[in-house]
Parts: sequence; structure tokens; C-alpha cells
Amino acid sequence: MTKYIFVTGGVLSSLGKGITAASVGTLLKHSGKNVGMLKIDPYINVDPGTMSPLEHGEVFVTKDGAETDLDIGNYERFLDTSFLKTSNFTTGQVYSSVIERERSGGYLGQTIQVIPHIVGEIVKRIKEAGEGHEVLIVELGGTVGDIEGLPFMEAIRQMKHDDEVEGTFFIHVTLIPFIKAAGELKSKPTQHSVQELRRIGITPQMIIARSELPLPKTFRKKLAMSCDVSSNSVIEALDAASIYDVPMSFLRQNILGPIAKELGFDELNPNMEEWDALVKKIVQPKKRVVVGFVGKYLQLKESYKSLTESLIHSGAHLDTRVEICWVDSEAIEARGAQELLKDCDSVLVAGGFGNRGVEGKIEAIKYARENKIPYLGICLGMQLTLVEYARNVLGFEGANSVEFDENTPYPMIYLIDNFLDQSGNTQLRTHKSPMGGTLRLGEYPCDTKDGSLLRKAYGGAKTIFERHRHRYEANPIYREALEGAGMIVTGESDGLIETVEIKGHPWFLGVQFHPEFTSRLQTPNPSILAFVQATLDAE
Ligand code: GLN
Repeated sequence: MTKYIFVTGGVLSSLGKGITAASVGTLLKHSGKNVGMLKIDPYINVDPGTMSPLEHGEVFVTKDGAETDLDIGNYERFLDTSFLKTSNFTTGQVYSSVIERERSGGYLGQTIQVIPHIVGEIVKRIKEAGEGHEVLIVELGGTVGDIEGLPFMEAIRQMKHDDEVEGTFFIHVTLIPFIKAAGELKSKPTQHSVQELRRIGITPQMIIARSELPLPKTFRKKLAMSCDVSSNSVIEALDAASIYDVPMSFLRQNILGPIAKELGFDELNPNMEEWDALVKKIVQPKKRVVVGFVGKYLQLKESYKSLTESLIHSGAHLDTRVEICWVDSEAIEARGAQELLKDCDSVLVAGGFGNRGVEGKIEAIKYARENKIPYLGICLGMQLTLVEYARNVLGFEGANSVEFDENTPYPMIYLIDNFLDQSGNTQLRTHKSPMGGTLRLGEYPCDTKDGSLLRKAYGGAKTIFERHRHRYEANPIYREALEGAGMIVTGESDGLIETVEIKGHPWFLGVQFHPEFTSRLQTPNPSILAFVQATLDAE
């Protein structure tokens, strides 16, 4: 039987509920517990796969190929665990399955209603996610009071009394604003938020209070009293120097005490030594490098969350602050790569979809290649290395990816119309395929070439496993031409070109996969680690 910790948010969004959930999970995991994580999202999209990164931040891809909320990325980075598609569901998925069941006669004449059917489906999915774990941490998207969150609230309320549930614990994350004019911290919004929770039958057992200033003892007491929790169950969450310090800060406040007591765990003593040492290197590293990060969704840095976190992980292991110099690919088109990248120790071109900014990325690649600057190209950033090489080394005028020019004379990157997906099913892909769920998604093996930077980065491994999210592939008919001119294929997956390198360049790697999805604080991704090391060597 599983115990459940529910994390809800009050007052406003962006308070760091995901980091809170992940931090509690980390402390329990390091105490030897088998922890599962689940994010439930009240939006109607079936998954975030079709949402703009500018709208919703990054789409995180799980090992089993689900496009999920970016919080699943936080869970994996903190808990050093690969979670599966069962770790995230949305209102869209809940309704889809209930309606499908209704259409196929699964409810035999009943009227289908939010209560009990939608709520019942939510409870069922939460329990499925909890199977096999001692404790499941469930983070509810949105804020208390949102109309679309109500069925989820009702579901977790009902679980308090469920015979199949061994115990429940409710954590509420809220904001304590500081009003400058009055010089005071204010508890009222939190009180209202807790009242709203109580109105729907949930009494939080712990308040995590986001605040700019430390909470004085008297304030804590007052907050505890008005929210009906004990004062050691008010945990303060100040802005942290690194998100990875949050578990340490919670631990110092003995967050596990009330959780263990309520859920009936014996004393919990997490071993956080290695973690703490890494956090210290993030906060006060000895060395520093600058990576030129070329992308197009720069207004919302959350769209590259996993990638920016992965640079922090590698930095921590190399005792280095990896500073990011954000370079908008469209600005390169206007001002040239040299001007914008000249102060960077290396160049990173991230993945992306759509035409905008592509020519600027190609210029950045040319600059890194010609000036022998360490280069890592991820997904689109790899595809464009082939386009750049074709145009500027092989002289293939008009070479492109068919994503950007359907009629290019040299389709270096093309569409495989008959594609075998992860479960062995044939996927038909054309330009007109629906957008949702037609990508190559999830983990695939990649065979590495002897003597390559890639194999070296992965400690000599002949086969590596990385995650994917793309529709187009490198076109094998140009392989011979490319290899004849010094661009070498160093990774292959089932006949597909996965990685390329350039002979004579100190460190140039293009990878079709997304290495950032498997990077964790404790185990940084090898491609990224080798890239940061190469950046250090070049500096
Ligand atoms: N747009 C490219 C494709 O679909 C690359 C995708 C990516 O970078 N994630 O193949």
C-alpha cells in the first residue's frame, strides 16, 4: 500500500511547487524510501506536445516517449530517476478516456458526470501512479480556487478516506508578501487560500511559505495558528542561491519530522552529503566559462529548462560556473555571428521547430566550425550542421532541411514516411501528418564509433541510450559525400544518422538526440559534461 503526499499551491502561480515537490521527494529518497512522483495538470490539452514553448515552457520527454510537463524534468533531475508517462496526466487525458469508455458502452446506461466519473478516473490514475511505491508525491498544477482544478481537489479529498490508501499528507505552498510601505510580512493571502482549501474539505498539514524575508518566530506562530497547523509545520522557503539548495534548506528546518509523524515513518535521516557538496560547487565554484547559447525562444528561458539545468549539473561536477551568453538566432542574421559570439568560449545551438532564426543558427555553426571553437548542436542544432557543411564545404547551393524548404535541391534533412516507432508500430509521416503525437519520441539506442568524441564522452560505451523529440532525420544518401569531406558519422541508431563530428576540429559534436533530458545533478549527461570540459580546455 502506498502513502500519498499532495502538494497544492495557493495565492498565485510560479511559487516553485514543482521544486518543493521534488525537494521533498529527494529527502525521502535519500532516506531510503521508494518514492514515485506525479504531476497532474488541469488544462484540457491531452499533453503539452502541441503547446508553444513560449506559452508553457519546455516539453519534457520521458524515457517511454511521453511529452510531459516540465516539472517531470525537475523530478528526474532531483531524484536521479527516470519516470514514465504515468508520472503526468491532464484533464484532457481524463476526459478522453471517460468519453471513450462511454462511447464503447462501458458505463451501461449511466449518466456520466464530473462526480463520480471524472473524479473516479482521476483517483484511479493517481493510484496507478502510486503502485509499487512506498510514497507517491502528487503535485497539483494551478492554484487553489481555479475552476478547472476542482475535480482534482475533490479527488485528493476523497483519497483521505480510501481503504486502499495507507496515509495522506497535504502540503500547501503559498506566498507571504512583504509590504514595503508598512514594513510588514502579510499572512492574509495565505489564510484566505487555506480557508478556500478547507471549504472544499482539505485541511493542509504543512504550509510552505515563499517569502523574500525570513519569517520571525512570532509570525510563524501566528501563521500556524491561523492556518491550523503546528508551528514546526510552517516551513519557510526563501529565494535560494540554487534550486538544488532547497532540499537542504527544508532539511535544516526538519521538514521530515511532521511528515514522518503523520505518515507513520520511523525516523528519517537522509544522507545528503554528496548532494550538499555539489550544491556548494554550484554556489561557489572555482572556475568560470561562458557558453554562447543560440536559440530563438529567448523571451522565456523556461523553454530550455533541461538544457540550462544540464549545464549547471556539469558545472557542479567540474567546479565551474557555466555562464550562459544568450544569443538570439535572429539577431545573428542581422548582426553576424562574430559580433555576438566573440566573447564566448564555446557555442551551443539548441533544438527547435519552424523556420524562424534558422539562417542565424547556420551562421553560428559556420563560425564555430571555422574558428575551431567547441561546438555542441542538439537536434535541430545537429541537423543544421549537415546543412551548413553541405552549403559551405561541399558547395551544395540551396542545401536545406525539407522542414524549411520542401523543394531544396539537396534535402540533407528529410522525412522518413515509414517510421517504426518505439513500440514497433509503423508511423506514417508526411508534411500533412497531424502535429500531436507524430514525432520520434523517447529513448533509442545509439551505437558509437570507435575513437570518436562521442564514445570517449560516454567512457568508451559502444551503445548509449538517449531521448528524442523530432520529426526529421539526416538523409543517408549524403553520408558518403559528407564523410569524404571530413564530416564523420560517429553515432547510429538502427541505420539512422545520430551524431556527427568534424575531423581536425578540437571539439565539434552534433547529436540528433536531446542529451539534456537525462542530465541530473548527481549524474550529469556525458555529452554535456564533455562539452563543458571542452569549453574549459578552450578557455
Ligand atoms: N524541427 C526538427 C525536427 O522536427 C528538430 C526538432 C528539435 O530540435 N527538437 O526534426
